[in-house]
Amino acid sequence: MKGLCILGATGSIGVSTLDVISRHPDKYKVVALTANTNIDALFKQCQQYRPQYAVVVNEEKAVSFKQKLDESGLNDITVLVGAQALQQVASLDQVESVMAAIVGAAGLLPTLAAAKAGKTVLLANKEALVMSGDIFMQAVAESGAHLLPIDSEHNAIFQCMPGGYETGTRAKQARRILLTASGGPFRATPIADLEHVTPEQAVAHPKWDMGRKISVDSATMMNKGLELIEACLLFNMSPEDIQVVIHKQSIIHSMVDYVDGSVLAQMGNPDMRTPIAHAMAWPERFDSGVEPLNIFEVKQMDFEQPDLQRFPCLRLACEAVNAGGIMPTILNAANEIAVDAFLNEMIRFTDIPKIIEKTMAEFSPDIADSLDIILQADADARQVSSALVEANCN
Ligand code: NAD
Ligand code: MG
Repeated sequence: MKGLCILGATGSIGVSTLDVISRHPDKYKVVALTANTNIDALFKQCQQYRPQYAVVVNEEKAVSFKQKLDESGLNDITVLVGAQALQQVASLDQVESVMAAIVGAAGLLPTLAAAKAGKTVLLANKEALVMSGDIFMQAVAESGAHLLPIDSEHNAIFQCMPGGYETGTRAKQARRILLTASGGPFRATPIADLEHVTPEQAVAHPKWDMGRKISVDSATMMNKGLELIEACLLFNMSPEDIQVVIHKQSIIHSMVDYVDGSVLAQMGNPDMRTPIAHAMAWPERFDSGVEPLNIFEVKQMDFEQPDLQRFPCLRLACEAVNAGGIMPTILNAANEIAVDAFLNEMIRFTDIPKIIEKTMAEFSPDIADSLDIILQADADARQVSSALVEANCN
């Protein structure tokens, strides 16, 4: 039995992960579950999975959470409080695998702690990798951790790589990656209408059921921009070797183009339990609960070039990865601030790329060779973007 820690257990990926392992109680033992504020969901998960540890980041919520556990006689579960505890549970000796499923920069330090401790890191939290780049990959290489992608595209690419492939290395015979994208809810909306888009429209993704932040990122296609950077790091490729392809049916989850002309694709229904089960069973396979793909219902598959005018966030991500240094960190921080402001109805949908572009213009792509530099760049960019949001509101 492998010990599992789920960082961000109450989110969309966390819930799907628990669904997958409930089918395999002989394979995984839940050691630790973490949540930010959603203590009701965490409490139910504790009742069902009986972890050794439960972490609540929000201190006020933690007080009522402990009370709830005590009243229900679940006092064998150790409750830890605060952000620091995330790093602690991610590096426990009895934890073998860590599902990194916190959203945004808040996941960086605990995911990095798991990598440094040599755990098998199941990486959903793409922002952590985008912001820390080479430092994260170096931590993985030095500790001998296994890094397995959960993001459906990167998991697909990993599955299409040669046998024995390890993330962080370059598969020499792989010429190109074809990174697929659904195009989100506004793939065909008239560009002039985009400024009136509401948060509820933006989070209603046509193919995937996800958390609010990544749903907005999919609508702006910043998600694909972050994934492009993620793919460069995971597969040791340069951005020119990665082609973004709009494939609205979301049946092919990405492809690898080899030097002999073979193009390998991974297909399946759009359900995150497939990549989760793949990574959790790796190098074997087990049941995920996902319906088998009915190829006759698919009928047709379309492929289009992305339109950078419609999706300026994708252009900005390309600029950030080409600039290198701290620029991906700046891009990510500005995006988190802008998306949050949009979800709180402080700015318009079309202001998101404007805030990011203006923030990026305030920074030069300094070398990002230490964690301190990255954390400082993240903090500085958040300050600049927050001021831009404020100015936009006045
Ligand atoms: P979500 O919003 O549903 O869940 C986020 C989780 O993170 C929750 O458990 C929450 O408690 C926790 N969290 C939020 N802020 C925190 C903080 N400050 N400190 C500690 N914990 C905090 O998000 P999600 O859709 O599950 O996405 C999680 C990650 O996985 C994201 O990085 C996303 O890009 C990535 N991802 C998600 C999907 C998907 O289908 N949902 C697909 C690919 C990649
Ligand atoms: Mg994805």
